[in-house]
Amino acid sequence: MPDKDYLRNLRIPTKENPLRILVSACLLGVKCGVDGDSYGEYTSVLKLLRYENVQLIQFCPEDFEFGTPREMCDIYGGNGLDVLEGKAKVLTTSGSDWTEGMINASEKMLEVAQHNAVELAIMMDISAACGNHVIYDGDRYAADKKYQIGMGVCGAQLHRAGFKIISWREYESLEILYSKIDPMHQVDQSAKDFDQHEWYLDYFKMKDR
Ligand code: SF4
Repeated sequence: MPDKDYLRNLRIPTKENPLRILVSACLLGVKCGVDGDSYGEYTSVLKLLRYENVQLIQFCPEDFEFGTPREMCDIYGGNGLDVLEGKAKVLTTSGSDWTEGMINASEKMLEVAQHNAVELAIMMDISAACGNHVIYDGDRYAADKKYQIGMGVCGAQLHRAGFKIISWREYESLEILYSKIDPMHQVDQSAKDFDQHEWYLDYFKMKDR
C-alpha cells in the first residue's frame, strides 16, 4: 500500500539534487513487455519526464533475466513475498518454472535501487515481477482467473529492503508526489488511490466495512 505520509515528507528536490525514482521500464514507453511492446501509455508516470528535478532510473527485471519477447508468467501458491520465502512458484503459460530466474531478477532490481539510492519506486501493478498492490492469483488466462492483494517478486524484494513503492494507478499518491516536485502543480483533490476504487472495494469485499 502507498505510504502517503512518506510521500508528504519527501524532500523538495532541485535540479542539482533531483529526486531519484526507480520506474518499471514499460511505464516509460520502453518496449520490454512480453510481446515486445510497452503495454500502452501511462501519462500519470510519463509526466515525470518533464521535470529536471527528477532523475528516473528505468529497469525491466523480466527483460534483464528472460529477454524480450518472452512468455507470460504468474505466481502460483502465494504472492511475491511467498516466492522469496520459497513458499510459492513463478510459472510461465507453458509451465516452465521461472521461480529462480525471477528471484535473480528481483535481486538485480534491488541492486539497481541500492546503487542509485532511489527514494521511491513507481511500478506496474498486476505483474508477477513489478506488481506492488494487486496481482493475479495463479493463471491470468484461466476462465475463473482470480486476483489477490499482494506484490510481485521484485516489488516484494524492494519492499522487504525498505524501499517505498507506488503503482502507476495510485493517483492520489502521485498527486502528492507532483506537488513535491512542482510548486505550480494544482492538486486534484478527487484523485484516488487504487484501494479506493470501486473495482477494488467490490472485488475484495471491502465496500461496507
Ligand atoms: S511490468 Fe516490469 S517486468 Fe513487466 S514489462 Fe514492465 S518493467 Fe518489465
